[in-house]
Amino acid sequence: MPSLPPRVLWQAVLGELEVQMAKPSYETFLKDTTGTGREANRLMVATPSPFVAEYLQQKLYALVARTVERVAKEPLEVSFLVAPNGGDAAKQRDGNGGQPPRDVAPRPLGTLALNLRYTFETFIVGKSNQLAHAAAVAAADYPGQKYNPVFLYSGVGLGKTHLLHAIAHRVLARGLSMLYLSAEQFTNEFVTAIREGRAAEFNAKFSGVDVLLVDDVYSLAGKEQTQEKLFHLFNERHQANRQIVLTSDRPPAALTSLGDRLRSRFAMGLIGDIQTPDLEMRLAILRSKAEQSASSGLVPDDVLLMLAQKVQRSVRELEGNLNRVLALAELTGKPVTRELAAQALAGLEANRGSRSATPEEIVALVARHYGLSPDALRGPVREKKVALARHVAMFLLQQELNVTLSQIGRVLGGRDHSTVDHACKRVEVMSNVDAGLRTDLVTLREALEKPSAGKG
Ligand code: ADP
Ligand code: MG
Repeated sequence: MPSLPPRVLWQAVLGELEVQMAKPSYETFLKDTTGTGREANRLMVATPSPFVAEYLQQKLYALVARTVERVAKEPLEVSFLVAPNGGDAAKQRDGNGGQPPRDVAPRPLGTLALNLRYTFETFIVGKSNQLAHAAAVAAADYPGQKYNPVFLYSGVGLGKTHLLHAIAHRVLARGLSMLYLSAEQFTNEFVTAIREGRAAEFNAKFSGVDVLLVDDVYSLAGKEQTQEKLFHLFNERHQANRQIVLTSDRPPAALTSLGDRLRSRFAMGLIGDIQTPDLEMRLAILRSKAEQSASSGLVPDDVLLMLAQKVQRSVRELEGNLNRVLALAELTGKPVTRELAAQALAGLEANRGSRSATPEEIVALVARHYGLSPDALRGPVREKKVALARHVAMFLLQQELNVTLSQIGRVLGGRDHSTVDHACKRVEVMSNVDAGLRTDLVTLREALEKPSAGKG
C-alpha cells in the first residue's frame, strides 16, 4: 500500500492534534511545523526553532507519535528538525541567515537535517554551475540509471550542499528513500559502530536506501579504515544500481590523500564542478534571496547591483552581505537604500582594511602566483602572461588598499593613472566572463587575508 507523502500525512496529523489540544499550545508548538520527509519508518518534521523542536521531543512526543500511528496506520518514529523559515507558515520569518539548520532530534538513521529552502526551485542556474545542476537533477530523477556516482566539487559556499539537499527533497517527494550524511559523520558512525560491535547494523543502514548522499568527502583524508569501508559500500551500492552522490572541494584526481582505488571509483560517473558566479548570476541569486526573505519589503535594484558587484568569492558571502543589509534596515526601521547598504557593509571593509599587506607584498604575491618575479611586473615586458599578472596586481591594489591610481602606477614601475584605470576596469570585466581569472582572484584574496586571520 503506497503511503501518504510526508507533507500530507503531517497535515492530517496536525488536524487531529488541533482538536485534541489546548489552542495556545497547539499554536505555539505545532502550527508552524511541516512534514518534510520520510525514511523507512521515520517521519521528519521541520520546526521553526530549536526551542519548539526540543519541546515537541520532550513533552509532546508520545501524543504526536500516537496520532501519527493512527493516521498513518503504522507506527512511525518522528524526528523534529530545526529548519527556520521551513514550515510554510513560517516562510516570512527568516532568522537563520543561510546557516545550516540544526538537527536536535535523535538520528537513528544518521541523516542530517534538510534545509527546506535548499531545493532545485530556489537554485539559480547559470554558466558557472549548469553541469553540476544537470548532474544533480539526473541523479534525483533517474537514480542509479544515468550517472553513477555523481561527483560535485567547488570551493566553499558555492552550492554543493544546496544541491545535495535538493536531490534529497526530490527523492523523498517521489517516495524513494535516501541517506544524507557528511563524510565526517560517516567516519564517526563507522568508528562508533566498530567500537560497539554494531558493524552489521551499520551495513544494514545503507543497504535499504535508494540514494546515498555524502557531503564533503575530502574530510576522509588520512582515515584509511573508513575509506576502505566506504570503498566496499560504494561497490556494493554501485552494483545494486543505487545512486551515489558525493561532494568535495576538489576533483577526484586532486584528492591525493585518498587511496587510488577510492579516487578512481569517485571518477567513474559524472563529475560536475561549480565555479564562482559571474555578475549576472550573482544578481539573479541576490534577487531571488531578497524575494525569499521579503521581511523588509523590496530591495531596490540599485542596491542589489551594488551588492552583486562587490563579492566575487562565494554565494554564501553574497547572501551574508544581503542579510547584513536587511538586518540593519530592520533594526533601524529605515528603507533599503544604497546609503544604508554602504553603512551595513562598512564594518566589513574596515575589518579587511586592518590587514597589514603593503603594496609591495601584494605585487610579490601576485608575481609568485603567476610564477613570475616582482621585477617582471614592474618592468616593460608586454607578453600576455606578464601583462595579465600586472593587471591583476593593479586591480588588487585598487580593491584592497586605499591608494590612488597614480600611487598604484608608481608601485608598478611608473605607469600613469589612466593605464592603471584601464587595467582595473579590464580585470573587472574579464572576471565576469573568465572563470579561471575569478579563481585566481579568489585565491589571491584568500592569501591576502591569511596573515590577519590570527589577529582575531
Ligand atoms: P557549499 O556546500 O558548496 O559550501 P552551500 O550549498 O552551503 O555551499 O551554499 C552556500 C549558500 O549559498 C547557501 O545558502 C545556498 O543556498 C546558496 N547558494 C549557492 N549557490 C546557489 C545558487 N546557484 N542559487 C541559489 N542559492 C545558492
Ligand atoms: Mg557544503
